[in-house]
Amino acid sequence: MAGEPQNDCLFCKIAAGHIPATIVRETETTVAFRDINPQAPTHILVIPKVHYENAATLAAEAPQAAADVLRETAEVAAGEKLDSYRIVFNTGSGAGQTVFHAHAHILGGRGMQWPPG
Ligand code: 5GP
Ligand code: ZN
Repeated sequence: MAGEPQNDCLFCKIAAGHIPATIVRETETTVAFRDINPQAPTHILVIPKVHYENAATLAAEAPQAAADVLRETAEVAAGEKLDSYRIVFNTGSGAGQTVFHAHAHILGGRGMQWPPG
Protein backbone atom coordinates (compact mmCIF):
# COMPACT_ATOMS: atom_id res chain seq x y z
CA MET A 1 0.00 0.00 0.00
CA ALA A 2 1.25 3.48 -0.86
CA GLY A 3 3.01 5.14 2.04
CA GLU A 4 3.91 1.82 3.66
CA PRO A 5 7.43 0.33 3.41
CA GLN A 6 7.75 -2.02 0.43
CA ASN A 7 9.79 -5.22 0.88
CA ASP A 8 11.11 -5.08 -2.67
CA CYS A 9 12.01 -1.37 -2.72
CA LEU A 10 15.69 -0.42 -2.70
CA PHE A 11 15.08 3.06 -1.28
CA CYS A 12 12.77 1.78 1.48
CA LYS A 13 15.69 -0.49 2.46
CA ILE A 14 18.11 2.45 2.45
CA ALA A 15 15.63 4.55 4.47
CA ALA A 16 15.39 1.74 7.02
CA GLY A 17 19.17 1.33 7.18
CA HIS A 18 18.99 -2.22 5.80
CA ILE A 19 21.17 -1.36 2.80
CA PRO A 20 24.21 0.87 3.35
CA ALA A 21 24.44 4.29 1.73
CA THR A 22 26.60 7.35 2.23
CA ILE A 23 24.14 9.42 4.23
CA VAL A 24 24.53 13.20 3.94
CA ARG A 25 21.59 14.30 6.11
CA GLU A 26 18.66 12.62 7.78
CA THR A 27 15.50 14.11 9.27
CA GLU A 28 12.43 12.52 10.84
CA THR A 29 10.83 12.25 7.40
CA THR A 30 13.67 12.27 4.83
CA VAL A 31 17.07 10.79 4.03
CA ALA A 32 19.70 12.36 1.75
CA PHE A 33 22.48 10.12 0.45
CA ARG A 34 25.10 10.13 -2.32
CA ASP A 35 24.14 8.57 -5.64
CA ILE A 36 26.07 5.35 -6.28
CA ASN A 37 26.67 6.38 -9.93
CA PRO A 38 27.21 10.15 -9.77
CA GLN A 39 26.45 12.22 -12.86
CA ALA A 40 28.07 15.37 -11.46
CA PRO A 41 30.77 16.14 -8.85
CA THR A 42 27.93 16.50 -6.35
CA HIS A 43 25.04 14.08 -6.91
CA ILE A 44 22.83 13.50 -3.90
CA LEU A 45 19.39 11.90 -3.68
CA VAL A 46 16.73 13.07 -1.22
CA ILE A 47 13.96 10.59 -0.46
CA PRO A 48 10.91 10.65 1.77
CA LYS A 49 10.93 7.82 4.31
CA VAL A 50 7.40 6.97 3.20
CA HIS A 51 7.03 4.98 0.00
CA TYR A 52 5.35 6.61 -2.98
CA GLU A 53 6.11 5.63 -6.54
CA ASN A 54 7.08 9.05 -7.83
CA ALA A 55 6.98 12.78 -7.11
CA ALA A 56 3.45 13.12 -8.48
CA THR A 57 1.89 10.52 -6.19
CA LEU A 58 3.96 11.80 -3.27
CA ALA A 59 2.75 15.38 -3.82
CA ALA A 60 -0.87 14.27 -4.25
CA GLU A 61 -1.06 11.83 -1.36
CA ALA A 62 1.53 13.08 1.14
CA PRO A 63 2.04 16.79 0.45
CA GLN A 64 3.81 17.42 3.77
CA ALA A 65 6.40 14.75 2.93
CA ALA A 66 6.79 16.29 -0.54
CA ALA A 67 7.42 19.68 1.06
CA ASP A 68 9.92 18.10 3.44
CA VAL A 69 11.84 16.62 0.49
CA LEU A 70 11.92 19.97 -1.28
CA ARG A 71 13.08 21.79 1.85
CA GLU A 72 15.82 19.20 2.33
CA THR A 73 17.15 19.76 -1.20
CA ALA A 74 17.89 23.36 -0.19
CA GLU A 75 19.48 22.27 3.10
CA VAL A 76 21.69 19.75 1.30
CA ALA A 77 22.70 22.25 -1.39
CA ALA A 78 23.62 24.78 1.30
CA GLY A 79 25.56 22.14 3.21
CA GLU A 80 27.49 21.24 0.05
CA LYS A 81 28.08 24.97 -0.62
CA LEU A 82 26.45 24.75 -4.06
CA ASP A 83 25.48 28.13 -5.43
CA SER A 84 24.10 26.66 -8.67
CA TYR A 85 22.52 23.25 -8.87
CA ARG A 86 19.74 21.31 -10.52
CA ILE A 87 16.91 19.43 -8.83
CA VAL A 88 15.44 16.61 -10.93
CA PHE A 89 12.49 14.33 -10.28
CA ASN A 90 12.51 11.73 -13.04
CA THR A 91 8.87 10.65 -13.26
CA GLY A 92 8.12 7.52 -15.31
CA SER A 93 10.47 5.15 -17.11
CA GLY A 94 10.34 7.25 -20.29
CA ALA A 95 11.90 10.09 -18.34
CA GLY A 96 14.66 7.88 -16.95
CA GLN A 97 13.11 6.81 -13.65
CA THR A 98 14.59 3.47 -12.61
CA VAL A 99 13.81 3.36 -8.87
CA PHE A 100 10.09 3.71 -8.18
CA HIS A 101 10.33 5.35 -4.76
CA ALA A 102 10.05 9.13 -5.12
CA HIS A 103 13.40 10.90 -5.00
CA ALA A 104 14.93 14.25 -5.85
CA HIS A 105 18.30 14.32 -7.56
CA ILE A 106 20.52 17.24 -6.57
CA LEU A 107 23.21 17.76 -9.21
CA GLY A 108 25.92 20.37 -8.88
CA GLY A 109 29.58 21.18 -9.11
CA ARG A 110 29.76 21.49 -12.89
CA GLY A 111 28.23 23.57 -15.67
CA MET A 112 24.97 22.27 -17.14
CA GLN A 113 23.13 22.68 -20.40
CA TRP A 114 19.51 23.65 -20.84
CA PRO A 115 17.35 22.07 -22.16
CA PRO A 116 18.64 18.68 -20.95
CA GLY A 117 18.87 15.76 -23.39
P1 5GP B 1 16.22 7.43 -11.26
O1 5GP B 1 16.88 6.89 -12.51
O2 5GP B 1 15.15 6.48 -10.79
O3 5GP B 1 15.75 8.85 -11.38
O4 5GP B 1 17.36 7.50 -10.16
C1 5GP B 1 17.77 6.41 -9.42
C2 5GP B 1 19.17 6.72 -8.94
O5 5GP B 1 19.47 5.82 -7.91
C3 5GP B 1 20.23 6.55 -10.02
O6 5GP B 1 20.91 7.79 -10.21
C4 5GP B 1 21.15 5.47 -9.47
O7 5GP B 1 22.50 5.69 -9.74
C5 5GP B 1 20.85 5.50 -7.99
N1 5GP B 1 21.02 4.23 -7.31
C6 5GP B 1 20.60 3.02 -7.76
N2 5GP B 1 20.91 2.06 -6.87
C7 5GP B 1 21.54 2.70 -5.84
C8 5GP B 1 22.10 2.22 -4.60
O8 5GP B 1 22.07 1.03 -4.26
N3 5GP B 1 22.66 3.16 -3.81
C9 5GP B 1 22.71 4.48 -4.14
N4 5GP B 1 23.31 5.30 -3.27
N5 5GP B 1 22.19 4.95 -5.28
C10 5GP B 1 21.61 4.08 -6.12
ZN1 ZN C 1 10.15 2.52 -1.24
